[in-house]
Amino acid sequence: MALLHCGNLTLEGKSSSAVATYVRVKELDLVFDLGRCPMNFIGIGNVFISHFHLDHYFGLPIYISQRWLSGIPPGNIYVPWKGSKQLTHILDKISALDTGRGWAYQITPVRVGEAIPFRQNLVAHILPGNHSVPAVSYLICEVRKKLKQEFQHLSGPDIVELKRSGVEVTTEVQLPLVAYLGDTRSIPIDAHPLLKQCKVLICECTFILPEHRSRAKKTMHLHLEMLPPMLADIESEHIVLTHFSRRYTPELIRQKVYNYLQPEERSRVQLFL
Ligand SMILES: [Zn+2]
Ligand SMILES: [Zn+2]
Repeated sequence: MALLHCGNLTLEGKSSSAVATYVRVKELDLVFDLGRCPMNFIGIGNVFISHFHLDHYFGLPIYISQRWLSGIPPGNIYVPWKGSKQLTHILDKISALDTGRGWAYQITPVRVGEAIPFRQNLVAHILPGNHSVPAVSYLICEVRKKLKQEFQHLSGPDIVELKRSGVEVTTEVQLPLVAYLGDTRSIPIDAHPLLKQCKVLICECTFILPEHRSRAKKTMHLHLEMLPPMLADIESEHIVLTHFSRRYTPELIRQKVYNYLQPEERSRVQLFL
């Protein structure tokens, strides 16, 4: 299993195109996609599915059934709205086959443009994907309260006094922590103003060799050669590349990616291998 440290966040999981992708962010109690479900992922409370290609959601029946069997309340599973009905149909069929009864589970269909609060202080912004089937990307922000500008010159006791009198002294700000793009042909940079500032950007890079340019276009994936101009607009401290084609060995991926990127770009890029 891959394990990467990106500032305060730990990414753990696997990602190989057409095989399986699942990327856990331990500190946020979430996993992006669930192409398979390792047993130590059963306890994760929030699952964000990018699209309904098998390598991205096939772990759901295991996740749901193992929680159900262990008496753990259902986790929050977020999926693209398009296809969500078919998914619940499939899950109901599998659970009936498996148990003769239905598993308890919680599916939340999401649409581009929505902002979904979860845990106590996090929000998931739903951004578009650009893939061969309906897909979404996720931008996770931490919501913090900040003293309003007009009260910043006041002393502590004055602020307490204002609060007592019923004045709202704070405003909410969002801190972009991590974005996950799923399978995509482009980065939805204009979809949300905070995307380019997110601390960690998890971005697919399925194809890396020149002879696979047309395959990348046809299957709606990113190619290594497309990344430098796109990443130039991204301010993220950490860029994590995922979903490499299984035709490439890890050695080849490391060599090609690091040789292709400029040194200043290379220093913030990590490979999820
Ligand atoms: Zn995929
Ligand atoms: Zn896909």
